[in-house]
Amino acid sequence: MRTPCFVANWKMNKTLGEAQEYLRTLEKRWPHLPASSWEAILAPPFIMLAPMAELLKASTLRIGLAAQNVHFEDRGAYTGEISPLMLRDVGCRYVIIGHSERRTYFGETNALIHKKLAAALRAGLIPILCVGETREEREEEKTWEVIERQLREGLDDLRPGPSDWLIAYEPVWAIGTGLTPTPAEAEAVHLQIRDFFRSLSGEEADTPRILYGGSVTDKNIAAFMQEEDIDGALAGGASLSADSFCNMIEQGVKAKER
Ligand code: PEP
Repeated sequence: MRTPCFVANWKMNKTLGEAQEYLRTLEKRWPHLPASSWEAILAPPFIMLAPMAELLKASTLRIGLAAQNVHFEDRGAYTGEISPLMLRDVGCRYVIIGHSERRTYFGETNALIHKKLAAALRAGLIPILCVGETREEREEEKTWEVIERQLREGLDDLRPGPSDWLIAYEPVWAIGTGLTPTPAEAEAVHLQIRDFFRSLSGEEADTPRILYGGSVTDKNIAAFMQEEDIDGALAGGASLSADSFCNMIEQGVKAKER
């Protein structure tokens, strides 16, 4: 059984005061579902990780902290960067790597993403590796070709265990646009991703959890979660409201149990 997982990617949003307000709402609105049946992860901007780790420690909330990015060295002359060791040090357990906004706006290549993955794993962080095709690539029917390359080159020689990382399938054309693939279309890609991991480690082997991301909301999550190979969601816009993030978790977990 793969535990459903929901990631809130705040991107470059919220001040510390707003983050505190969000946590207060989460405490009031926390889903009343068996704790073992789901997992939630919050990815705030770097600057909020340390204070949020302290706030979470003092709260009853059971939620993991993720960074949205990481450098591939542990220390050194890399002005403006944050290392995996620093993330671990402030209580961060996860890190998003290869988000399409990093690939598009900051020129991150599969080779760089490989270095970041390796560094994160070395430091004991759990990477959330994002893959996905652009609209043009989809129209040219290159979706799997692109994703297979992102996985193969991102991994290279790395062979993390199934619980050492998470994969997020995020069609680039669906991120922040209100557009989504149909659940069946997303499922087809998730199954290809799962088969990719099975081909690496054996037909019967466990595979990492694969989350769907791209305009997912509390309204459409149930349909995605009803698909066999969709293990959760990575949400951007819809995760900025604590209420809608909690609704999404509730709807998603219930749909999986049906
Ligand atoms: C994302 O941040 O990865 C994302 C999927 O954003 P949105 O939910 O806003 O499309």
